[in-house]
Parts: sequence; structure tokens; C-alpha cells
Amino acid sequence: MLQTQTVDVITPAVEATVMTFGYFYIVELGEQVRPRHHHVGINGECTCTLRRGCPAVDQVRKYLADGGKRTERPSFGFYPVHPARCPIKGCGAPVYYDASLSSHNRGAGWACSAGGKAHYWLHRGWITSMRQKLARQGKNV
Ligand SMILES: [Zn+2]
Ligand SMILES: [Zn+2]
Repeated sequence: MLQTQTVDVITPAVEATVMTFGYFYIVELGEQVRPRHHHVGINGECTCTLRRGCPAVDQVRKYLADGGKRTERPSFGFYPVHPARCPIKGCGAPVYYDASLSSHNRGAGWACSAGGKAHYWLHRGWITSMRQKLARQGKNV
């Protein structure tokens, strides 16, 4: 009789180690995996070519479920990585990284797959007005 076996090929054989570094999780996937170290952002994407499909992303999820330490929280309006989905109300379409919109103060630039760069600037406008609102309330952001 055949036995059903669950084989998960992408799960590394060695227990992965997860560390936090600034706004990122550094995941070491073991010697068999190239590259060995993966950087996962708070948007749940790895900076390697596998992005969301990277096994390091699952490792981070597991690490956090086990009560692992979270990364530093970026200050309001600063994006160390682009968000997973468009933050515009009623949009929520996938976004992609756009280096031309990246800046030292705003962080990683992105464009919306539905609304393009216009949604990026719309969101930045919202951040600016939120900042002004918070400043009026005496909150320093
Ligand atoms: Zn990766
Ligand atoms: Zn959008």
C-alpha cells in the first residue's frame, strides 16, 4: 500500500534562524540555500527574486507566531519597503517598487498596478495632511 507523504521541498532541512535588523528580518536558511541570508520586509516580501514566495517569509511568520521580536517600527509616513497593497481607500491593488519615486525622507517609492504613480502621490498627500493635523494637535510626528 502506498503511503501518503507530505513533502515540502522548499522548507529548509536545517532550522532557520531569524534576526531583526532595523526594519528588516534577516533569515538564515541554512547552508544548502543560496543566497543563505534573506531580508524580509514588514510588507511580508523578501528582497530576493522569490519575493512573497520565498521560504524566508514563512520563517518570519513562524518566528512571530512563536513570540519573536518585531522589527523597528518606521516613523509615520516613512516606508522602508513598499507596502504590499495600495493604501488608497477602495483601491487595495498590488503595488510594485518604483525606484524613481524613492527618497531619503519618504523611503521606498512605489506605483499602484491600478492607479499608477497617481495613487502614490495621493497617498503622500494624505500623509502630509495627517502630519499637519497631528501637528495641530500638538503631536510631533
Ligand atoms: Zn528570499
Ligand atoms: Zn491604488
